[in-house]
Amino acid sequence: MQQKLITAKNIVVLTHHNPDGDAVGSVLALWFYLKNNYNAVAMVPNDFPEFYKWMPGAEHIKIASKSKEESSKLLANADLIFCLDFNSPDRVGPLANDLKSSTAEKILIDHHLLPSDFFKIAYTQAETSSTAELVYEFIVAMGDEKLIDYNIAVAVYVGIITDTGSFSHSCNYPQTYSITSRLFEKGIDAAVIQRLVFCNFSESRLRLLGYCLSEKLTIIEKYSTAYIVITKEEMKRFHFKIGDSEGIVNYGLTIKGIKMAALFTERNDYVKLSLRSAGEMDVDKFARKHFNGAGHKNASGADIHKTLNESVQDFISYLPLYEKELSKK
Ligand code: 5GP
Ligand code: MN
Repeated sequence: MQQKLITAKNIVVLTHHNPDGDAVGSVLALWFYLKNNYNAVAMVPNDFPEFYKWMPGAEHIKIASKSKEESSKLLANADLIFCLDFNSPDRVGPLANDLKSSTAEKILIDHHLLPSDFFKIAYTQAETSSTAELVYEFIVAMGDEKLIDYNIAVAVYVGIITDTGSFSHSCNYPQTYSITSRLFEKGIDAAVIQRLVFCNFSESRLRLLGYCLSEKLTIIEKYSTAYIVITKEEMKRFHFKIGDSEGIVNYGLTIKGIKMAALFTERNDYVKLSLRSAGEMDVDKFARKHFNGAGHKNASGADIHKTLNESVQDFISYLPLYEKELSKK
């Protein structure tokens, strides 16, 4: 690995379409590490939410959808592409063809289940809280722990708290805490970061949440399932901006006895499905089997190329197949 890095001339650090906190955090952490010694570019396929724009280095991230030609060139000219927080080349959306046709060596750093064999080198661990945590470990494994500074620490911490819901799920792995404790030695402030990420929404986003909970939440008791559907018209009404639906799906699971929660949001040419579960219900398998999606056992998603109504009806029709997992006390 060291050898590959030493000889690399152009490196791209890339993450998945619709980047979340772990995606942005892991890209920034690795980019900060590489940028001093290499020609490295941090890249996301499309824009990321405002509440991550305060992060050190965020202004340097290349948003491919805003400069398509330049991004295609960067991928074509790269000799090393780090692929962070996704495990199949299709997850980079409109960049998929550029990624597939690039002759660069692809190195995967990720915590999702079942990585595709597209990647030459895969550094993956499904128990890990986040990809950001793996980026931290990667830097340590490269013998460069001393280079982990405040900026990298902030990026790693954002990845960890956003993928664990501030240490409330996917956080039973002891190493997450030993890495987190080292981040505090770099001077990060947990309360400040918590507010910047989770208390930095617009008024209309909060009103959208209130509307979803009071008007749009449907419970299917027989299958311990809660779901919310948001139409394009409603998104417009609440001045929807990228990131505004993040987190809404989780509320369904806060109801006693609910084992699976779903959120459907109507986009221009597809429906975005987010799934969350508690306990044995495996929503990674559910999303893979029925919607060509994926994720983790308790958090997954998919892009459905059907109408909003068809997507919801399909979802409901699959529930009886999971009666055992969903009805268990
Ligand atoms: P979210 O619901 O927050 O968008 O995503 C939850 C999890 O599912 C994340 O780990 C994300 O990477 C994964 N995920 C979301 N949408 C898709 C998708 O369309 N395809 C795949 N393969 N994974 C997805
Ligand atoms: Mn992640």
